[in-house]
Amino acid sequence: MAPPMSANRFLDLLRDEGVTVVEVGNWREHNRNHVGPWGPVHGVMIHHTVTSGSELTVRLCRDGHSTLPGPLCHGVITKDGRVHLVGYGRANHAGLGDDDVLRAVIAEKRLPPDNEANTDGNRHFYGFECENLGDGEDPWTDEQLDAIERVSAAVCRHHGWTERSVIGHLEWQPGKIDPKGFTMDAMRDRIGERLKG
Ligand SMILES: [Zn+2]
Repeated sequence: MAPPMSANRFLDLLRDEGVTVVEVGNWREHNRNHVGPWGPVHGVMIHHTVTSGSELTVRLCRDGHSTLPGPLCHGVITKDGRVHLVGYGRANHAGLGDDDVLRAVIAEKRLPPDNEANTDGNRHFYGFECENLGDGEDPWTDEQLDAIERVSAAVCRHHGWTERSVIGHLEWQPGKIDPKGFTMDAMRDRIGERLKG
């Protein structure tokens, strides 16, 4: 049972891990805590946005849209590798996912296939949205992959988690394909290496 870390701790950790952080508006208080719980936290979830252009991407992730109010994540990782903090607390990024996957994440075991949408993920995961069209062709920059590795490692380090606590949205919710363009297994290997250092 891990309570979420404070917003200030989150900010400090990311900076300590060598991430370039951009604070957007009142990110510390921008959340969906009024509609549901935030925590206990069990992992980190990685997404792609299906957008192009950093400014638009950050704004969309902060504000959301008519059917899905923001924030849509905690940090937006743009192509240049900067991490824009748009919210903190419960955020609309994970939706409903598979309770068997959540149990595997908590136990840090190999993930089962995600074939059920029966569990509130917004409560249990830190979320990072990454600027990418998600078509398998839009390139992921080295800076962006490096930032994904760093933010994930930073959160894992705080909670004493291994890289197995980091999953992609596609591993959580049936029908999701994000992130597309690299594999979560490869990213977990990178995060594991960083955690050893
Ligand atoms: Zn997603």
